[in-house]
Amino acid sequence: MGKKKKVRAREGGKKARAKRPGSKKYKMYSIEDNKLAKKRVCPRCGQGVFLAEHKDRWSCGKCGYTEFKKKN
Ligand SMILES: [Zn+2]
Repeated sequence: MGKKKKVRAREGGKKARAKRPGSKKYKMYSIEDNKLAKKRVCPRCGQGVFLAEHKDRWSCGKCGYTEFKKKN
């Protein structure tokens, strides 16, 4: 009872934040995309476990899963 809400007196004091160029984030995303497109994920171990690339196949060092490359 009787509590007064303090009104923020200083508005606009710390608002100069949204003017930064955020191009770095976009770059990171594109790099990640590239990696994901290049690397193969182990279907058994799931996301985060990538297959090691060999000349003619990919293999998982964790569970031994092997996927052969298809020749065109
Ligand atoms: Zn695996």
